Amino acid sequence: MRRRPEDNKDSDQDRDDGMGMSGLAQMELLLARSTHRLSELIMKVESRPGELTEGIAALRDLAREHAEALATLQQETAKAAAERAELREAVRQVHAMTSRRTRDLRTYISRKFRAMHYTPIQVEECPNCASIDRHRIGLLNNIVGAPAELFQCDDCALGYVSILVHPDDLARYYADGYDIVPSKEFANARAVSQRNLLFELLEPQQRSRVFEIGAGTGALLRLLSEEGAEVAGVEPRWAIEDLDVVQGEAEDIAASGDYNLVVLSHLIEHIPRPHELLAVVRQLLRPGGHLFLEVPNFESADIKAHEQSRPENAHVLFFTAAALENMLHRSGFQAVTTKWSTPSGKPPKAENIVYTDGSTDSAYHVRILARMLDKPLAV
Ligand SMILES: [Zn+2]
Repeated sequence: MRRRPEDNKDSDQDRDDGMGMSGLAQMELLLARSTHRLSELIMKVESRPGELTEGIAALRDLAREHAEALATLQQETAKAAAERAELREAVRQVHAMTSRRTRDLRTYISRKFRAMHYTPIQVEECPNCASIDRHRIGLLNNIVGAPAELFQCDDCALGYVSILVHPDDLARYYADGYDIVPSKEFANARAVSQRNLLFELLEPQQRSRVFEIGAGTGALLRLLSEEGAEVAGVEPRWAIEDLDVVQGEAEDIAASGDYNLVVLSHLIEHIPRPHELLAVVRQLLRPGGHLFLEVPNFESADIKAHEQSRPENAHVLFFTAAALENMLHRSGFQAVTTKWSTPSGKPPKAENIVYTDGSTDSAYHVRILARMLDKPLAV
């Protein structure tokens, strides 16, 4: 509040009164007092011209005081503005940290709750060859983060998880925001590498009509479409209109029988009954059409360790190249080319996703191109 300075007080006494006030309040008081004093002096000078010299000296003093007060006021104002900005930034940081922790905690609790309350389904036989002969490899955390045993079939070498999650639990899990999409950069680099391999292995007329189940971001279909292929697909999480990718699962696909290439990239390892999926692929393909698959390579010690260390693992099948070839053969496909690939570099780039024909035990991914046979074997 603005205070009127009192009359008849000497200036030393005035200064003492200002002690202990904040910088800004002091300046305000000082300015108000000197303004008052200025008008007194003007009145004096007007009434007694003889005191003009004394009046001018006093005016100069006052002008200096004003200038000093103004400079201090400007410094104080700048300091206060800087402090306000610092405070705003601190508040923003605290807010970001709190909301992140709250979100993490909420996710953690909801996942722990799901891991405690889900309907487990025991797997008694190999999902590929139905053999009950198997050996235990170790434990992993299944898709809801609950422990499950990891077996490998003694007959076909397929690895599989012993406890599946009921489809209702699974739907809830995916609805809760489970995200298995790799970064867009990584998806694009992988698609370029896959496109290059498909161009190397297939003639243009063998890849002119392409269907991808689990199209992800659509990166591979887009590349093939740019080269003139007609493309379509399904993806459970979203539709991609310009690529004719509809939102849906494999069982939603209407069998068209007129595609010459079907792609399953990092998909079949999520499927508990893979031969049902491969039957859908057979219905999509023309006679003699091709299927291209890419899966994590279970012969790699790094992949094996990674699968067992993930806090929640959506994979239910674990493939060596031989196990995948065996599975394909049972569903009526003949592997024509088997390759191994390893993404490298951070972030992975197309030019350093390398693939080789040997070194099966270290490569991270297996890629197989298979041709559809006239008839599947009896599974
Ligand atoms: Zn088996």
